[in-house]
Amino acid sequence: MNYEPVIGLEVHAQLATNTKIFCGCSPAFGAEPNTHVCPVCLGLPGALPVLNQNVVDMAMHISLAVGCTIQPRSRFLRKNYFYPDLPKGYQVSQFQSNEEMPLATGGGVEVPTADGGTRVINLTRIHMEEDAGKSIHEEGFVSSGESLVDVNRCGVPLIEIVSEPEIATSDEAFHYLTRLHQMLVYTGVCEGDMEKGHMRIDVNVSIRPVGSTKLGTKVEVKNVNSFRNCQRAIDTEKDRQIALLETGGTIQQATMLFDPDRNQLRPMRTKEDSDDYRYFPDPDLVPVVVDDAWITKVREQIPELPEAKKIRFGNDFDISRDQIDILTSSRDIADYFETTVSSGAGAKPAANWLQGDVMRVLNEQKITIGELKITPQSLAELLQLIDKGTISGNIARKVFDEMVDTGDAPQSIVEKQGLVQISDTSELDGIVDQIIADSPSEVERYKGGDKKLVGFFMGQIMKATKGQANPKMVSQILREKLG
Ligand code: ADP
Ligand code: MG
Ligand code: ZN
Repeated sequence: MNYEPVIGLEVHAQLATNTKIFCGCSPAFGAEPNTHVCPVCLGLPGALPVLNQNVVDMAMHISLAVGCTIQPRSRFLRKNYFYPDLPKGYQVSQFQSNEEMPLATGGGVEVPTADGGTRVINLTRIHMEEDAGKSIHEEGFVSSGESLVDVNRCGVPLIEIVSEPEIATSDEAFHYLTRLHQMLVYTGVCEGDMEKGHMRIDVNVSIRPVGSTKLGTKVEVKNVNSFRNCQRAIDTEKDRQIALLETGGTIQQATMLFDPDRNQLRPMRTKEDSDDYRYFPDPDLVPVVVDDAWITKVREQIPELPEAKKIRFGNDFDISRDQIDILTSSRDIADYFETTVSSGAGAKPAANWLQGDVMRVLNEQKITIGELKITPQSLAELLQLIDKGTISGNIARKVFDEMVDTGDAPQSIVEKQGLVQISDTSELDGIVDQIIADSPSEVERYKGGDKKLVGFFMGQIMKATKGQANPKMVSQILREKLG
């Protein structure tokens, strides 16, 4: 029998707020353990939570961007369970049932298909919740058999984006996650830094005979921290399930952990039901009521999204499909490109420089385009200097490197270092004459038919002028003089 996997993803994304969801503590990454805490996020007796309005704003922002319906009224519930890194004994979250709706429902994410088209992966919901703390079992400073607890993350605001079980392959899961990540970052709702745990994914996998429409028993793989590991977890789990069914076994509903180093899944617990958590409305928090005016206000703030930007770039700029993809990969890069062009650079050279030299520097220095010392205005100025023939392309690279280091304006670097291109005919004439006089044997071979030697003469002239001779003019003068 042939089996196909069915995949549903639950993505936890950290909202980019300045404070936690129910208190004023900082959600910043990397603080000393147990320093970003207060009675509220520790759940001390008598402490009262107050909902951070930015959390609702940001959750609505991404929900509207992916086409969800915002529920006019939703509630926070307590999901009760014991865990050492959960001092309150419950997590405040939202729930979906016949009676209870989360903040946002429906919506979808478009993914590319193998035949070059696209299809939509539908969403079940987007809900708000708080993060739990972190148990540390394995790092070097923990002695064997001991665990440490860091509760800084308790109360860090998250949204959970739940897909319908309709992702068909691990590749499709990867595309879905990449698109979602791009949307989250574009809308400014999430910083999207995987290394800081800004996005964590629970992967649900089942298999069924090809052609069947009934869902099989699912296994959930918790807390996968990269898109590649999601793909690997899906493939590993799918293979395990197929092997199990083929040898006459049955699939147990379970929750597993993925160990990326061993490419292995470890059982964590047999699957609990939502009933086990004894969800009930948090009596300390009022319902979240969202009116149309609020929805309209958030909707108006949604920036142009990647797909719309791609279409517009394709219409407005004479640049390649690949370049459009690269330039729209992040909003910052797209904005940088557009500002470069509106500051007087041509679209084509601006795209070439961004795709080439700028991306190289960002990768080498591991910085974002916002941290680059070169402003789009100075990049435009540099490209104009090339365009006007003030400097050659080669010199421009030198100027660019200097701009990367100092952030100085290109004009002033060119002036200070005397890099202006030599485009004066009589000056170039003299230099070319000199090189010809110095190379009698090459001249003879050239005249004898070895036209490739033109490269040799160009090289000599560039050497003599430290690369500043106008290459177009030199080439013309050379050909005239050599006949
Ligand atoms: P739970 O209550 O266990 O979290 P849900 O029904 O809310 O379960 O689904 C959680 C996730 O699991 C969703 O992303 C959903 O698409 C996915 N899922 C549900 N059933 C299946 C299945 N049979 N196979 C694969 N994924 C599934
Ligand atoms: Mg779940
Ligand atoms: Zn706090």
